[in-house]
Amino acid sequence: MRKKIVAANWKMNLTLAQGEKLVNELLQSGIQLDAHKEVVIAAPFPYLIIVKELLKGHPGFYVAAQNVAAEKAGAFTGEVNAEMLHSIHTDFVIIGHSERRELFGDSNAIVAKKIDLSLSHGLKPIFCCGEPLEVRKAGTQNAFVAKQLEEGLFHLTVAQLKNVVIAYEPIWAIGTGLTASSAQAQDMHAFIRSQVASKYGAAAANNLSILYGGSVKAANAAELFACEDVDGGLVGGASLVAAEFAGIVKSI
Ligand code: PGA
Repeated sequence: MRKKIVAANWKMNLTLAQGEKLVNELLQSGIQLDAHKEVVIAAPFPYLIIVKELLKGHPGFYVAAQNVAAEKAGAFTGEVNAEMLHSIHTDFVIIGHSERRELFGDSNAIVAKKIDLSLSHGLKPIFCCGEPLEVRKAGTQNAFVAKQLEEGLFHLTVAQLKNVVIAYEPIWAIGTGLTASSAQAQDMHAFIRSQVASKYGAAAANNLSILYGGSVKAANAAELFACEDVDGGLVGGASLVAAEFAGIVKSI
């Protein structure tokens, strides 16, 4: 059975004290995780060690970085590499988020380098893909996402793919309050899974968790997660409020 995952993407929000309070409230909110369910907290870099410590003794809760350097090490002022993240016991790393692609120039080639470095240091990439509004309006979203997969991810071996999670996040639904309908999400998730199946085979595709992201909240999570190919969510805004995020987690 493939893993169901809900990941919180705090982005550039919360002070340390606010983040600690949020994690503590979340841990006290009565979330029950069985063996195939995971919760991931993608906190800002300076909080990762502390969040990891808070999650100790809570099986099924993991930490993620929101980005990683595309270079191994050296003179790259301000960057944080995969080896550093691994050395502080980071579990996952979000790679190719649309905000990084749009605002910081993360091309598919850069995304591919970040994926490789992360995997070689024992981090599990959460590979983000998704189309902008004009592409959705033109009806060419499948070709757009197929290219992101092809250029960012499909150089991996089938063994490497086992440690990857995909997050489909239509850009027009991120932070806008506009959620993809469950039919739109299901269509794209099934398409992504079929692309993975033709490249890596049915077993690899069946085992791959594909998360939906874009204005997920407690009120719409259950309907989205009920879709056959939607294996959880990557949650921005609604992950900043403990009760709201706990409501989403309880829907997986
Ligand atoms: P949102 O963000 O839930 O605020 O739409 C999702 C994301 O960007 O990961």
